[in-house]
Amino acid sequence: MNFETRAVHAGRKTDPTTGSIIPPLYQTATYVLEEVGKLKGFDYTRSANPTRENLEVNLASLEGGKYATAFASGMAAADSVIRLLKAHDHIVSVDDIYGGVIRLLDNIVIRSEISVDYVDGSNLQNIRDAIKPETRMLWIETPSNPLLKIIDLEEAAQIAQEHNLIYVVDSTFATPYLLRPLEFGADIVIQSTTKYLSGHNQLIGGACITNREDLHEDLFFIQKTVGAVPSPHDCWLTLLGIKTLPLRMEKHCENAQLIAEYLEQHDKVQRVAYPGLPSHPQHNIARSQQNGYGGMITLELKGGYDAGVKFLNSLSLISLAESLGSVESMITHPASMTHKSVPREDRLARGLTDGLARISVGIESLQDLIEDLKQALSQVKA
Ligand code: PLP
Repeated sequence: MNFETRAVHAGRKTDPTTGSIIPPLYQTATYVLEEVGKLKGFDYTRSANPTRENLEVNLASLEGGKYATAFASGMAAADSVIRLLKAHDHIVSVDDIYGGVIRLLDNIVIRSEISVDYVDGSNLQNIRDAIKPETRMLWIETPSNPLLKIIDLEEAAQIAQEHNLIYVVDSTFATPYLLRPLEFGADIVIQSTTKYLSGHNQLIGGACITNREDLHEDLFFIQKTVGAVPSPHDCWLTLLGIKTLPLRMEKHCENAQLIAEYLEQHDKVQRVAYPGLPSHPQHNIARSQQNGYGGMITLELKGGYDAGVKFLNSLSLISLAESLGSVESMITHPASMTHKSVPREDRLARGLTDGLARISVGIESLQDLIEDLKQALSQVKA
């Protein structure tokens, strides 16, 4: 069936006892055994839960994967993927990734004697050059957070294959509606379901999706053993959110394209990064591998930090808030928010200047959003 139908129906079974069209929420910690050794499929919710399973079936279906494991957050999903490695293994990661993942790799993962090198993945030769004999994992984020760099997934897959690396793609910004990295050879897709998938700023969640049975078995074992699982209620809410993912993504993309075009021609704006703009350096790759350019825009005003802060503080409909991918438009200041934990020098080396702002364009009226941007820009000194 087509994506829109699977978003509504995958993992949904009409409840046989009541006919409830929405499967019941199994908000339970444990399950009663009929007798010793005789389960009805579930023994304890950390290991498995029917509502979580419904979500996992749905997520696997949308990504075109065989298996999904749901986690309590995108970070728990990322951490679980890294737990596939062992001491002295090495990761090659692209440099522009979510700051929380950099914090995890540089402060926690390092304690297990796993090392990481970050490279600018928009030139794939940089990835090839960073591979060592002990490299086991390739970590990609596309479109990346916050600079919206696009990585050619098929070419990166070739490198991963040649070197027998576990090829991981954090596809949170794109969602499976716009991009399905498994189709391009990824081994594992990571989603922060906090974002577009649940879509309404109502919860924190994450997931890993794969076609590889060996990786799934390990991720399932990590999920139930470490226990960073989502609550059944959050799984149930995520499933409700996913039903409208295709409609929401269409509107996010439409609004974002027109806002990016508006901002690009504005005389107070220094630069705009949006994969749907022909000026984006990897616009052609985005066009060939994605079904749309997404709802995220990054911009820098003329006047650097002071201008950026004035702009951020002057918006009224667009909320100054951490996170992205919800129906509400939000704006973030990466230097003081999402990437605050990355040391300033390191941030600057990655191209994350102090005045950079990242907009998550919501599904409100385009006219109202542009009015808000216009009034905020008018308050910035030329
Ligand atoms: N991956 C990306 C690309 C993100 O932007 C985020 C959060 O902003 C995460 C992972 C982490 O997800 P969570 O906040 O659900 O832990």
